[in-house]
Amino acid sequence: MLKIGHEVVRPGRNLGEAEVTIPIPEELETVPGIPMTSREVDWYAREYPLESINITERASRDWANTLRDQHAEMREIRKEHEKLNRPLIMACRMTADLEPTAEPTGEDISELIKTKARELGFVEVGITAFDHRYTFQSKKGSTVYYPHFVALAYEQDFEPTQTIPSVDAEIVHSSTYRTEGAAALELGNYIRSLGYHAQVMGSGDSAGPYIPMHVAAGTGQLGACGYLLTPHVGSRCRLVGLTTDANVSYDEPVDYGIHAFCQVCQVCVNRCPGRALMRDKIWWRGIEKNKLYFKRCRPVMARYLGCGICMKVCPIQKYGLKNVMDHYAETGQVLGKGTHDLEGYTLEGKGYFGPGEMPVFDAAFFDMPHGGTDEHAFEVFKQRATAAGGEVTEEMMAELKDGLVKSLFQATDNLGMMDEDADYI
Ligand code: SF4
Ligand code: SF4
Repeated sequence: MLKIGHEVVRPGRNLGEAEVTIPIPEELETVPGIPMTSREVDWYAREYPLESINITERASRDWANTLRDQHAEMREIRKEHEKLNRPLIMACRMTADLEPTAEPTGEDISELIKTKARELGFVEVGITAFDHRYTFQSKKGSTVYYPHFVALAYEQDFEPTQTIPSVDAEIVHSSTYRTEGAAALELGNYIRSLGYHAQVMGSGDSAGPYIPMHVAAGTGQLGACGYLLTPHVGSRCRLVGLTTDANVSYDEPVDYGIHAFCQVCQVCVNRCPGRALMRDKIWWRGIEKNKLYFKRCRPVMARYLGCGICMKVCPIQKYGLKNVMDHYAETGQVLGKGTHDLEGYTLEGKGYFGPGEMPVFDAAFFDMPHGGTDEHAFEVFKQRATAAGGEVTEEMMAELKDGLVKSLFQATDNLGMMDEDADYI
């Protein structure tokens, strides 16, 4: 039995269920939240503000959608999600200007907000300051952000998630975003009924990545897979949030042991078909993390039903952090590691891959356009002009112009897209 360094007590998975106590072995203790150099985070935010990958990597996004649309069911899922999510996003955008519907009592309403959030189905809720350092450049100044952030995580159903990558998993992926969007709107109404403003950030219209504020609010820690790992359901949840001027108190970041545990576990790193996850951590924009190789992930997601294998094979997703930590404390082993149940997956058209078995792709598999639509248009233009010995035709100029004009409107025309930014930093 390993020596226990500290215990974390969290509310039960569902409202009304008993609290859970999670033992964190001493050898897994690092820091609450994530190792961070705040001055570096400040510097990057000022000099190189974040931008949505729906803009900075739009060329590959459009390419991926073209590939996905060749799969009839995936095409329908995407179309339906964009149609159903759009009104939710428009409703969320309007919440910034809605006035409270009652007079505030002046009491701290943190617990009321949390209880209501749990009644609405959120598996995790925490409160922290809204951190402008993570606001996307295209979202700065475009709306009101109240000073406090309510960090919300909605569980994605267990069964379909275990079939990742699959059509069923894609259906539950998109429907969870819509369900939580509607629940967050309801929570906003509730906060206004208590006398305060509440600005809801819709799924598919993020002001920035939510993970840093979730970590600060203690709802989880960043996993090696790039997702927030929450105590009850790990990465098997979708994140959203709202800002408010309500009288609230802040939660604290927590050391769940995840920062160190991932370095022992490495299941997602070993099982990622694109070899897109880093074994070791690096310092990136002022935080220490396992950085995702985006260029190796996107092609797999585009070709294999949104992939998500890193979510499926995570033991915390499957068994919950308490079971995983209990097992590790008793045995020094990672629960489920090396089993078909945890590590096995099937890629459509390529077959089943059990523990230790990996698909092989040639280099061309990873070819895709890079950068924003404008950068890609320039790149294509240069390639064609070079191939033509420097001759530039009117058709080439028209294509370049088309790409540049398209890019001008992309900060506002991505309403309802699947919200990858919400999950990755
Ligand atoms: S989504 Fe798939 S390809 Fe991307 S990191 Fe996860 S397992 Fe790897
Ligand atoms: S699979 Fe293991 S290494 Fe990957 S995020 Fe989950 S706990 Fe961390």
